[in-house]
Amino acid sequence: MSSENRPHVLIVGAGFGGLALAHGLRQRGIPVAVYERYRSRTDGLHGYRVGIDPTGNRALRECLPPRLFDTFVATCARTPSHFTVLTEKKKITAAVPLRGDADPVNSERSVSRQTLRQVLLTGLEDIVHFDKRFTGYERRPDGKVVAYFADGSSAVGDVLVGADGANSQVRQQYLPHAVLKEAGITSIAAKIPMSREALGLLPGPSRTGLSLTFAPKGFMCIWHVMEFGWDERGGIKEGAAGNDAELLRSWPGLLFDNTRDYLSWGLWAANDKFPADVMSLRGRQLTDLALELTPNWHPDFRRLFAMADASTAFPIRIATSEPVPAWETTQVTLLGDAAHTMTPGQGVGANTALRDAMLLARALGEAAAGRRDLLGAIGDYEAEMIPYGFARVKDSLAQNGTSGDDPLHKPVLGRAVLAANRTYFRAVDRIPAVRRKFLDELYAYRGADEA
Ligand SMILES: Cc1cc2nc3c(=O)[nH]c(=O)nc-3n(C[C@H](O)[C@H](O)[C@H](O)COP(=O)(O)OP(=O)(O)OC[C@H]3O[C@@H](n4cnc5c(N)ncnc54)[C@H](O)[C@@H]3O)c2cc1C
Repeated sequence: MSSENRPHVLIVGAGFGGLALAHGLRQRGIPVAVYERYRSRTDGLHGYRVGIDPTGNRALRECLPPRLFDTFVATCARTPSHFTVLTEKKKITAAVPLRGDADPVNSERSVSRQTLRQVLLTGLEDIVHFDKRFTGYERRPDGKVVAYFADGSSAVGDVLVGADGANSQVRQQYLPHAVLKEAGITSIAAKIPMSREALGLLPGPSRTGLSLTFAPKGFMCIWHVMEFGWDERGGIKEGAAGNDAELLRSWPGLLFDNTRDYLSWGLWAANDKFPADVMSLRGRQLTDLALELTPNWHPDFRRLFAMADASTAFPIRIATSEPVPAWETTQVTLLGDAAHTMTPGQGVGANTALRDAMLLARALGEAAAGRRDLLGAIGDYEAEMIPYGFARVKDSLAQNGTSGDDPLHKPVLGRAVLAANRTYFRAVDRIPAVRRKFLDELYAYRGADEA
């Protein structure tokens, strides 16, 4: 590769997408720097769960050095054994066994956000600049881009990538017509340090899996059981598979990661079910609110709301992007939530950000190798990313009641939709052909069939 073809890439945002792209570029010998507003590598993100699917695994395998990809696999929580659907009275509507995780790519993985971030920062310490809040950019007549930061500093590059999440400052300047709107849903989430007592309050299949409670009035709750390869002191647990113990022991990221085994819940419903000041509530006010909102739920679920570590509780207003028609390609581009914020309905926002990173790294690799001009390469990436990105925004909004307009949230219709939903999941549970179809569609959507 000739050095004059290699673009110098500036990435704003050290989230999953930005960091995966930085690895992908580094692997191709392309100079890159990442600018992150957080002050340190442990700020901001908490250890909440994110589900990484075959699309995300595939992107990570392509972008990361092989040993770091193995470390990613070793740092995942135990793979969920079941997807369980529950009523608010703790009755099991369906308990669907999920596929195992023998294949590092074609499997579903549960990761802690903080842990994945530590994995992705590994090996990039010299190019990630913290405490750099991006404020704006300028495109110079010589084809260079200048990024400006709140501390008065600036950086010059050939390409600027906005990987700065849902409220992207890069997008606001670049595509001022792009609209991010509220999906009409509020969620409260919190974690409970793992204990026998907490685990015992969930029904059997939920103890090693992920579960979804569908309740009247459009209330839903997701439950995750997260068990990692290390104990509460950060020591490696007995019985780690293969060379996981060695990978974990030699991985410096564990020093920065305070994730420990936990059980988490996320309760959501339409905005109008929550008090107007919900976004200003904190800690115990939020866990008390979860109890107030669920008076008729099974006492064990209510006990789990009450048992949460109040310091981990936070409220979220779910946002979603409006589709943006294809834009004219320049040396400024976007990836992940900055381009296409989606509700958590399908659980694919992070996976889509990782897919973007993989494709953009490939495209810039083509430019660096002299096989494509720079704008052509960015244009190729955008031509692929924009349609699938906004398709996933649309699919996510239609799933799991994460749009306030979903019939599940309507007063009368909602009851009928809940009943139909339960009938469907009972069929998934009891009729092998329906279960197979459900799983095939789930895994296909999440990238299991992609090349
Ligand atoms: C409740 C919930 C559950 C979810 N569960 C899943 C799931 O199971 N699976 C899944 O695939 N997705 C899930 N998602 C979506 C997922 O979290 C996002 O899609 C993903 O984090 C997007 O990655 P990103 O790199 O684009 O942006 P982010 O992860 O948001 O990273 C953006 C980074 O940019 C930085 N930044 C922002 N502004 C600036 C600035 N001005 N200057 C410098 N830096 C800046 C931020 O600090 C941050 O580090 C979930 C989302 C929610 C809300």
